[in-house]
Amino acid sequence: MGSAVTMQRVTVLGATGSIGLSTLDVLARHPEQYRVFALTAHSRLAELEQLCLQHRPQFAVVPTEAAAKHLRGGLQAAGVSVDVLVGEAGLCAVAEHAEVDCVMAAIVGAAGLLPTLAAVRAGKKVLLANKEALVMSGALFMRAVREHGAQLLPIDSEHNAIFQCLPADYARGLSATGVRRILLTASGGPFREWTPEQLARVTPAQACAHPNWSMGRKISVDSASLMNKGLELIEACWLFDACPEQVEVVVHPQSVIHSLVDYVDGSVLAQMGNPDMRTPIAHALAWPARIDSGVAPLDLLQVAHLDFAAPDMQRFPCLRLAREAAQAGGTAPALINAANEVAVEAFLAERLAFMHIPQLVERVLEQVATRPVTSLECVLEADRQAREAAQRHLASA
Ligand code: NAD
Ligand code: MG
Repeated sequence: MGSAVTMQRVTVLGATGSIGLSTLDVLARHPEQYRVFALTAHSRLAELEQLCLQHRPQFAVVPTEAAAKHLRGGLQAAGVSVDVLVGEAGLCAVAEHAEVDCVMAAIVGAAGLLPTLAAVRAGKKVLLANKEALVMSGALFMRAVREHGAQLLPIDSEHNAIFQCLPADYARGLSATGVRRILLTASGGPFREWTPEQLARVTPAQACAHPNWSMGRKISVDSASLMNKGLELIEACWLFDACPEQVEVVVHPQSVIHSLVDYVDGSVLAQMGNPDMRTPIAHALAWPARIDSGVAPLDLLQVAHLDFAAPDMQRFPCLRLAREAAQAGGTAPALINAANEVAVEAFLAERLAFMHIPQLVERVLEQVATRPVTSLECVLEADRQAREAAQRHLASA
């Protein structure tokens, strides 16, 4: 008899997105190990229907009753039986379902918070791409991970790299395990070398054309403004119990080193690879084993050069704002996250200039008081207040 491989049932929250599709690509390479249990989407519902035909999940989740009716009709006509659920309650149901082993949290933004927390509270293996959920709810989220015995694995390429370079017992504390610093790499985005005059005229199409990574529109804009690196700094502090001073951002335009860990003895460990999210996805899915991800082997001779530089906080104030929010703690990260989501949406709709994104975030931070986080309600209230303040500024601008 061969060794029995246990079948893992996987829910993919945000299945139609860039991370969702990469996840399905990896899962489909290992049908003997993984079964797709549920797929969810908020838009691109025709694509969701195709994904249901291809992956035959037990559940699908869509935003409205009308969308559910349409999807049920389409799937029935194709002779495929899928239970279609609706809205946030549906998202939470497929995240915490008793038959689910593993949840890929790949919804973008604050919308992913409650379903991701539902997976955590059900003690699932949670693959975290949705950094905004952790940035918003930090201490609360990490406490829930511990209390419910969830297994949290980072999908963000930098955090996945750090996780791979940290000692196995890093949870005892970074200093206790000989870690001096975490070096968080940043590509610098498409505007790394642009002048302030050029930055003032950035268009959404330019911001969404990342030099190394193909990603959803919101994270592409965040990468261009360096808010993404700021959110990642906060994410790293929570995931690895680091203080903001222990996390240093290093610009590395080739995106081949995905981050590094610096030890007290002078050793610096890096994780490298081609910039393709299927590597961290496959790593987290199979951890501690390794599986094929479909990513081409790294050709160092072709890469030839690895460059490093300090980030420019003058031209990219979002990184400074996020570092300040990390230091302030409490609801400050939830405030910048919400203000940034509103600002990015306005920028993508051509209602806000690129350099007004940090300005709007800073205004909101000045206006809405930071409070300690004592409950989920505090976090949701901070999110609401920051969105309202940001919308008021947009309306008066
Ligand atoms: P995307 O825009 O391509 O996909 C987002 C997914 O979330 C889609 O399936 C969409 O239908 C769903 N969604 C959007 N709004 C929703 C809502 N209100 N309710 C429920 N579902 C909703 O985004 P992406 O690039 O795949 O990123 C997803 C998450 O992963 C983000 O948090 C991002 O920061 C993180 N991430 C992405 C990458 C990347 O390479 N794309 C890398 C690191 C981290
Ligand atoms: Mg990243």
